[in-house]
Amino acid sequence: MTAPPTLAWREKGEGVFAAALGLLSDQDLDRPSLLPGWSRRTVAAHVARNADALINLLTWARTGHETPMYATPQARDSAIADTAALPAAEIRADCRAAAQRFTVALRELPAAAWSTEVRTAQGRIVPAAKVPWMRCREVWVHAADLDAAIGFRDIPDDVLAALVDDVTGTWHRRSQNPALALATPGRTWGSGAVTVTGTLPDIAAWITGRGDADRVSADGFLPSIPPWL
Ligand code: ZN
Repeated sequence: MTAPPTLAWREKGEGVFAAALGLLSDQDLDRPSLLPGWSRRTVAAHVARNADALINLLTWARTGHETPMYATPQARDSAIADTAALPAAEIRADCRAAAQRFTVALRELPAAAWSTEVRTAQGRIVPAAKVPWMRCREVWVHAADLDAAIGFRDIPDDVLAALVDDVTGTWHRRSQNPALALATPGRTWGSGAVTVTGTLPDIAAWITGRGDADRVSADGFLPSIPPWL
């Protein structure tokens, strides 16, 4: 199996996340992110620990030895809280170092290992080739969550389309499909009684639970949408 095309999106997203973080002062980091209940410190801490969790999946693929993303959900949460409590400079350095470790782990993965099956934190069995996308969606979406002048409008269209595929695919797997069609200027996803229309960034933001429902329009009652991750 050859390396997945999402590698390039991932690399660009790491740069954008780092740029967004770089725009925030120490005081800014203490303030709320766009994620309810999470400060920007917590978002950054989560992104750093996510890199290590995904390195575990790459290690699993490389060695064949089962290495889950997180030992337990509690271990995940406490590692995030510990990192978020560090001085701001250490959080920034941690984010940089974790992203660098992940880059090295990707580079060291032999081509044959991309097809090795691993298990995500949600319990899904996926080939290791999915891991760059799992990181890609984290860095791009959480760059926007940092509320630092980077938004969904700054995410490339192919990444946004892949996000919509990811969310609608998740709904489908869980049999949670809301009865709606998502219509963007270039592509429509699904079919249903209600058509929700918007730009690709606004539709992607709305269905990932980030966007303002006022930025999309519907030709009927706008349904509430199931959670994504
Ligand atoms: Zn996340």
